[in-house]
Amino acid sequence: MTGTLTRRGLLAGAFALPAFSRALGQVPASGQVDVVIIGAGAAGIAAARKVAAAGRTYALIEAGKRVGGRAFTDTAAFGLPLDLGATRLFLPGGAPVVDLARQAGLDLYEAPRGARLYQGLKEASDSPYEDFAATVRRAERAIGAAGDAGRDLPAARVLPPDLGPFGAAASFMIGPLRCAKELDQVSTVDFSRAEERDEAVLCRTGIGSLVTKLAQGLTVRMETAASVIDLGPRNVEVRTSKGLLTARAVILAVPPSLIAAGKIRITPGLPTRQRSAVERITLGARDHIAFLLPGNPLNAAPDETLMVQTTGQRPFRLIARVNGSDVHVAQVGGQLAQGLADGGATSGADYVKSALQANFGADLARRMGKVVQTRWSREPLALGAISCALPGSGNMRRAFTEVVANRLVFAGEHAHETLWGTVPGAWLSGERAAGQALRILGVQGASLAP
Ligand SMILES: Cc1cc2nc3c(=O)[nH]c(=O)nc-3n(C[C@H](O)[C@H](O)[C@H](O)COP(=O)(O)OP(=O)(O)OC[C@H]3O[C@@H](n4cnc5c(N)ncnc54)[C@H](O)[C@@H]3O)c2cc1C
Repeated sequence: MTGTLTRRGLLAGAFALPAFSRALGQVPASGQVDVVIIGAGAAGIAAARKVAAAGRTYALIEAGKRVGGRAFTDTAAFGLPLDLGATRLFLPGGAPVVDLARQAGLDLYEAPRGARLYQGLKEASDSPYEDFAATVRRAERAIGAAGDAGRDLPAARVLPPDLGPFGAAASFMIGPLRCAKELDQVSTVDFSRAEERDEAVLCRTGIGSLVTKLAQGLTVRMETAASVIDLGPRNVEVRTSKGLLTARAVILAVPPSLIAAGKIRITPGLPTRQRSAVERITLGARDHIAFLLPGNPLNAAPDETLMVQTTGQRPFRLIARVNGSDVHVAQVGGQLAQGLADGGATSGADYVKSALQANFGADLARRMGKVVQTRWSREPLALGAISCALPGSGNMRRAFTEVVANRLVFAGEHAHETLWGTVPGAWLSGERAAGQALRILGVQGASLAP
């Protein structure tokens, strides 16, 4: 995996469209269906589309009041689309989702490449920027080489000792910001398998709205939380907050953090491989702190990434002028994000204000307006932001691609070996899981392969 641094370089009713449902997969009122799909994030939606397209019955259940999960576009806070979770689709891995979104008529555009680097109050000249980019590359290569060689260690341990003045900034970029964890909590093997994320596209109406749009035509049973999955020899029973569902197969498309926390119980218990994967592929903290900064005082282009490197401190990363607006987003990850999420109501605002003040001066900091802060690690239906394997467990994701007891299939970003932590990874895992579920039903030609 390489970095991004070249210079500048809902509601149930809303989704219940009966004509489409009848055409593509029956959704009976009774508690018996072919496949129960738990969780209407990107993975569950992709799975339901595929089961529906095969003409099989399904129940797609969602505990929350909206679909999309960690892909969520808010329009209320600032009166414009603002992604509070996923913000971009990385290429090339995201191409299948990009194609679907374009077919659905969504307006996608290329994200600006690279970043501008500030040192203190000044934008860095080419030379420090290149040093910074080179440091990130060196760190990535060292981790990637260890992982490729099968040395599954804490990523922090294989960093070159002489990373220089940008070492801390590079570590923050590739640990907390990319993997949602400090590098001592990141498996070299998991890191090395992740596909390139150099290029990306943005969606004018937000990635959350894109995922929601792809759910159109599906029937989603909203505010229906699964609590127990009972794997029997002939059927699977799913106990939900609105009654019992019976099916031939179940696709579990919720983050592993929820299974680890006992929010969904599986009986009999999961096999050791899957149990270990649930315990070792954990979700880290990654958050957005969105704020108004009118008048473009940073002189930034729309959606431009600004990296602010302050001596002896973690860098401050901003996505400036979201979609050309006055809204900027500070991105935080790892311990910093966890600390802010656990902090008081104004922890995010305080952090941004002091970073703006320290880096750009008190006058600019005073111009900061309304602030909206996410706390994904405290969201009860997520309990974290992005999965990343703990050191020594880089091979464990594979367990999430295997069928359990000929009834249960996992889906979700955590269940993709190279696109983990992304919407496209979640989407493709959902399609793979649907193929496996259809195979359980005996559908000819359905893929069992991960
Ligand atoms: C801050 C942040 C930034 C990100 N940036 C990007 C990015 O730029 N690009 C990118 O590709 N990815 C990004 N990601 C990651 C991306 O958002 C996720 O990988 C993806 O959305 C996960 O989809 P999923 O279907 O696996 O899980 P989820 O989206 O978590 O969906 C799971 C669903 O299950 C539901 N659920 C939970 N429990 C139950 C239950 N008991 N019963 C029924 N339903 C239940 C949840 O409500 C949820 O809707 C980011 C994530 C975060 C948090």
